[in-house]
Amino acid sequence: MVLDRSLIRYARSGVRHRGRFSPRRNREITREECMDFRLSPEQERLRQAVRDFLAAECSPHYANELDAKAEWPIDLYRKIAQRGWVGYAYPREYGGDGGGIVDLTIVQEELAYVSFSLGMGWAQSAIFGGGAILFYGDDDQKGRFLPKLSSGETIFCFALTEPNAGSDAGSMQTTAVDQGDHFLLNGSKIFISGANIADYAVTFARTDKSLPKHKGLTAFIVDLRAPGVTVRPLRKMGTWPIHSCEIFFKNLQVPKENTLGGLNKGWTNLLRSLDLERIIGCGAQCVGASRRVVDDAITYAKELHYGGQPLIKQQSVAHALVDMEAEVEALRIQVYRAAWMLENNIPCSREASIAKVASSEAIARLSNMGMQILGPYGYFSDWDEERQYRDSRMVSIGGGSSQIQRNIIAGSIGL
Ligand SMILES: Cc1cc2nc3c(=O)[nH]c(=O)nc-3n(C[C@H](O)[C@H](O)[C@H](O)COP(=O)(O)OP(=O)(O)OC[C@H]3O[C@@H](n4cnc5c(N)ncnc54)[C@H](O)[C@@H]3O)c2cc1C
Repeated sequence: MVLDRSLIRYARSGVRHRGRFSPRRNREITREECMDFRLSPEQERLRQAVRDFLAAECSPHYANELDAKAEWPIDLYRKIAQRGWVGYAYPREYGGDGGGIVDLTIVQEELAYVSFSLGMGWAQSAIFGGGAILFYGDDDQKGRFLPKLSSGETIFCFALTEPNAGSDAGSMQTTAVDQGDHFLLNGSKIFISGANIADYAVTFARTDKSLPKHKGLTAFIVDLRAPGVTVRPLRKMGTWPIHSCEIFFKNLQVPKENTLGGLNKGWTNLLRSLDLERIIGCGAQCVGASRRVVDDAITYAKELHYGGQPLIKQQSVAHALVDMEAEVEALRIQVYRAAWMLENNIPCSREASIAKVASSEAIARLSNMGMQILGPYGYFSDWDEERQYRDSRMVSIGGGSSQIQRNIIAGSIGL
């Protein structure tokens, strides 16, 4: 999936993205491999296996049922973990399968096809939590946390945003004070997805106020069941099964061995995992969910009748569905290309931001269109469109808003 010469130059220049999952893919890209959009036979098998598993486990109405219960999908998540798809990209010595970023994209696309919230819960723990430990954890931390993450025994969340620091995360006010054998954390986080169910959070705090704001931050693994932690779910528009929460730290003791990625290196480490989050946590999720929106709209447009004919026989409806299908195809190419670049250590922050802004805004448009095609049925909660519309609205806000992605892209083209 190489589309221009500059990418080949990057690949050959030895510039390496250090935040990669799979050691076996650290190799040069040859000219013969360019513009090959096929997945490998193993990847096709992976997709089919995830698809078959979900078809056997989930009714066609699974997403609406989960939404009505508004419960984190813990049982299904653990089964997914047992199949190896939580730790799929972790190294084998930590209970994983040594897979790559494109493999994760495939898994996430299939999960989000079945349920947007299922994909969100999986990403919260496997990608945001596990990815941080894999990218900047030491061997002891990988050994302590990744096998249990991989088996589904332990759930993680990722707690970065604060009431006054999200887009400008460097302004965070939570502090961690060195007390000899531990740090004392005080402060709060907000909008943290799945914190109510998570055992641990990867979080960030200010460890040195004398340094410039981006330099005095440190990442920590914190036990959310420890004394000094309070978690409070917030009400929100969609993705009800994955509660987004406030977390309060009051004199929370964090052992020194849970300092993640080195003292005052929090910001540098955070930047290393952002591309992965944008591509898998948002892009792949939106591709899967968008595919589902289009498939559902086609199904219902065949079932519903207008003037004695199926709705889909109206040319205006058919054209709208064709436009939706074309948009999903374009998204898939953007997201898989960015995933492929990350997997092959090609710098791709620009492509990751483009994938995020394009996919998050497309899913909102597509779910709106799906609802419009079905008319009143789309508005009522027994149908999927109402939930898809509510769920999809978050992705252009969470994980770095569209405005912030556009700022990044603008910078990359010299604006
Ligand atoms: C459903 C949901 C789940 C979330 N889950 C998590 C989670 O699990 N973990 C976590 O850490 N966070 C999570 N977040 C938080 C999310 O990442 C932040 O809300 C987001 O990054 C925006 O930051 P903020 O809240 O500080 O808003 P602000 O930064 O205050 O933004 C307010 C508005 O100003 C705009 N804006 C800000 N700066 C600029 C700028 N420089 N140029 C142009 N416009 C700008 C923003 O785009 C936005 O429209 C979640 C959010 C949502 C909605």
